Amino acid sequence: MMQLFIPLNFLGFVYREIRGAFANIERMFALLDKTPLIQDASDAYDKPLTQGSVSFENVVFSYDSREILKGVSLTVEAGQKVAIVGDSGAGKSTLVKLLFRFYDVVGGRICIDGHDIRDVSQNTLRQAIAIVPQDTVLFNDTLIENIRYGRPSATDEEISAAIQMAHLSQFIESLPEGGATKVGERGLKLSGGEKQRVAIARAILKKSPILVFDEATSSLDSRSEQAILTALKEVAKGHTSLVIAHRLSTVIDADKIIVLSKGKVVEAGSHNELLAANGLYCKLWYAQQESADF
Ligand code: ADP
Ligand code: MG
Repeated sequence: MMQLFIPLNFLGFVYREIRGAFANIERMFALLDKTPLIQDASDAYDKPLTQGSVSFENVVFSYDSREILKGVSLTVEAGQKVAIVGDSGAGKSTLVKLLFRFYDVVGGRICIDGHDIRDVSQNTLRQAIAIVPQDTVLFNDTLIENIRYGRPSATDEEISAAIQMAHLSQFIESLPEGGATKVGERGLKLSGGEKQRVAIARAILKKSPILVFDEATSSLDSRSEQAILTALKEVAKGHTSLVIAHRLSTVIDADKIIVLSKGKVVEAGSHNELLAANGLYCKLWYAQQESADF
């Protein structure tokens, strides 16, 4: 089952990527037909990455010839919560794609537990990271199977626990067939918030040392956001978490906040340190405080 899980997970990622880029399903299948962009090195090793420390060391990356990341360095200690903030287009999601090795860096390197991610097998790498994306893909299957997909070998008890932690129990009880209700394109359509909670349940089930949330709550109203943030806090205990956030108010408790601007780290520190520094973070913070949308 594990073997099935990895390619599916990868396809989900590819699907979102390509849909975001082209919004065209035919093009997606044309691209999927091609050889995967990233191949394991011939001497890639399987070494479970269990600690979850992450470092980006002078990472440079370009799409085609346009340089998107211009020498990004950052470290996340095992168990820390680190937030990445910055304007749209700054390169935040690109950092996540590189960490998951959807693309390879052009310069510098990314390490997990001190291993360059290009030296380990992609299986190893993808076991180490669970991503809660902005836009979750549900399969045409029951709700429970959609959650189980986080780790197909999980027991029913583990699935129940994940459902509780993701604050999905009430929703599931309200469904005519409970967890056996079919969801997805040809079944029950879930709201954005419900889908995100399914993604959170999957991530809990996966039990990876590293959790990545890429603007996982940015499209929600503030009540759903609060419920999800509470769930995420519980989930992140004992894991390393990397949180990409649009609303700065959701990451003031982070151990470290990294401010990315035009592909460079321009500031890093705690919320209070960054406010005191009176730089870009401070500007963004006050702009959001004034805006009625936040
Ligand atoms: P953020 O998440 O901070 O909003 P992204 O990392 O998504 O920013 O994007 C950084 C820059 O890279 C943007 O200018 C975006 O247009 C560009 N970009 C993102 N994905 C691709 C892609 N697949 N091909 C070409 N350019 C891309
Ligand atoms: Mg993004």
